[in-house]
Amino acid sequence: MAFTSPSVKLVDPRDLLEMLRQHPLTAPFNLALYSEQHGRKGLLQAIREACSPFDNETLCTADCFKTWEESLPQALLTNQPVVRSCPKGLLGFIIPLPGDKGLPDCLIGGGVPERKTATRPGADDGDLSSTAGVIIEAGVSRLPSLSEAEAVAEEIFRALPRLLDQQVYTLSLARTTRRLEAVQKLARDLADSRDSEQAMTIVSEALVVLFNLPRVLIVLQKPGQTMTVHSTLGLAPDTFRLDQKRLAGYLVKTSGHPETLSGSDLEALFPGLETRSACIFPLVENETRYGAIAILDVELHGRDQALIELLVNRLATRLESLKTAEGQLRERRSSARLVTMVSALSLVDSRQELYRQILELSAELLTATSGSLMLLDANDGTLKIAAAKGMTSSLAKAMSVSYGEGIAGRVAKSGFPMLVNDIEQDKRIATRNRPRFKTKSFVSLPLELENRLIGVLNLADKSSGDNFTEADLDLVQTFTRHAVLMLKRVAILEKAGQFEKLAITDPLTGLYNRRFLENRLQEEFSRSQRQKQSFCLILSDLDNFKIYNDVCGHLAGDDALRKAAQLMRRCARDMDIATRYGGEEFCLVLPGTDKQESVVVGERIRRAIEAESFPGESHLPLGRLTTSLGVAAFPSDGVTADELIHAADLALYRAKALGRNRLVLYEPSMENQALLPHHASQDN
Ligand code: GH3
Ligand code: MG
Ligand code: MG
Repeated sequence: MAFTSPSVKLVDPRDLLEMLRQHPLTAPFNLALYSEQHGRKGLLQAIREACSPFDNETLCTADCFKTWEESLPQALLTNQPVVRSCPKGLLGFIIPLPGDKGLPDCLIGGGVPERKTATRPGADDGDLSSTAGVIIEAGVSRLPSLSEAEAVAEEIFRALPRLLDQQVYTLSLARTTRRLEAVQKLARDLADSRDSEQAMTIVSEALVVLFNLPRVLIVLQKPGQTMTVHSTLGLAPDTFRLDQKRLAGYLVKTSGHPETLSGSDLEALFPGLETRSACIFPLVENETRYGAIAILDVELHGRDQALIELLVNRLATRLESLKTAEGQLRERRSSARLVTMVSALSLVDSRQELYRQILELSAELLTATSGSLMLLDANDGTLKIAAAKGMTSSLAKAMSVSYGEGIAGRVAKSGFPMLVNDIEQDKRIATRNRPRFKTKSFVSLPLELENRLIGVLNLADKSSGDNFTEADLDLVQTFTRHAVLMLKRVAILEKAGQFEKLAITDPLTGLYNRRFLENRLQEEFSRSQRQKQSFCLILSDLDNFKIYNDVCGHLAGDDALRKAAQLMRRCARDMDIATRYGGEEFCLVLPGTDKQESVVVGERIRRAIEAESFPGESHLPLGRLTTSLGVAAFPSDGVTADELIHAADLALYRAKALGRNRLVLYEPSMENQALLPHHASQDN
């Protein structure tokens, strides 16, 4: 086991303090230890411990502190005890400690009012008893004078080397043995722990109870998840943050052995955390970083450090084996369900439906009774609810949050999921539990597609009323990682569908467009040729439509075109292909159909348009809006698209010439009139 602690202590300072406190010589003084390396701040703290140990409010004033500060170099430089009386009339001493034991530099004693003697007039009895009431009440009947205190300090100073050699070791050994036994038992408990939560509890309790550590910070990272402050002991959790990136970076580099960090190094990892120094125990097993345990403001004795390291290593081992065990159990329970869910999603072909299903299935996985799926609107940077559960849709629609704001907004911005057990207590949120949620626990996780944030999934209110767990978060993340892939698939489908539709349909009428017709005609030619079948083509041109437009306006013209298109579609058979060929011209391809059959379909169309009422049609020359139709057949009237359309056009031309509102079949004789200008006789 390698230690990177700056110095391995031969004597545990706390053993020394404990032993000295029990020693009759030091009573009634309160004791503290001080090392020069802890600077003025450390000195102030030691003096406070010594002078006002029972009082939260220090008795020390700036003047008191100054007298201590002046006495310190004297004691250390002369290597002799110094006894002084402070402006408040309290006696104190500074005793240098032997330098070869890896101990702090000196022992500080204080908090005892000086007994008024003839040699020290001026000290006011009344003042003293009120200032030092704590001490007097603590059972000290006879207060020492300055010279008595000096004698005591001298005696302690002389006794120290002997005490250090004998009693401290006995004490320290006894304590270490006790702790070792306890750690061995804890290691067995750890091995039996049923889940990671219980394992964590065993260790954090041991740190407080067994090692009596004042301030501990435990950070836990589950594989693939965000690092969170798991627990704090003796620290207000809302006074600092956790710098995910830096801490992760630190843990990646760590050797896995404990390391001492300066206060500023630690503050870089936990902004806002005020500490002198810390010993960090990384939780590492098999290259996996599970987090770290930081012990603040205590210089651990080498043996304690070794024991804690042992415990922390056992914890990491247990976390590793639990990960596999918990994972396997969860896997067994939910892998089948996950597969079913994801395959259910693969059938969904609209985005909206997919959002709804992702939310529903995630909620089902975690037995959440409410939640929402929010999507990031790249235009205005807000998250908008795309699907909601357990809230009215109007409420859902009204809700949108800005990126970085609110819980979902912050999850979106950080890219890390949030698991909150108590929304009112969690320092990251500090918001009142909104009445919408029944329970205070919820999860909020980012939805990412190809490393890009697309939205946030929120789940709340477990049906059992329980809190969500890290395992829940794991599970739902596994699911959503697969689910969002379906989103990509649907997006591609939708896009392809839209393009295809856009490319082949006429936006006004919704019928196929001319381009589609041309492609389709080619297919029809080769198919009909192969199968030796005939097919027909009908060209339809609305009669006097220019007049209709002129009289009724272009918008009415558009409506009429739409209506005519609908009639055309309705009168045609399913297999027929209706297209908008030009302005008010339509083309119908009738596969596998001979001329006689196509006349039936064409006539049906003509009659339907004739029968339909169009606003303002009475102004037309025929008193109603009608259409003329020309019919040509493959292969008799043409064997290429051009030939066939030309033939149908000639027939249509004849229909116009014959007075419109009629259907004409192509005849070869029409070719002779083809030389005439197409529309020459239309207005006749
Ligand atoms: P004919 O009976 O000989 O076919 O007479 P016509 O007026 O229908 O013939 P012509 O082809 O000269 O006029 C077609 C008119 O159709 C021209 C234009 O005003 C109208 N038209 C073409 N496309 C559209 C359209 O998309 N919307 C509207 N409202 N009118 C259109
Ligand atoms: Mg026309
Ligand atoms: Mg026309």
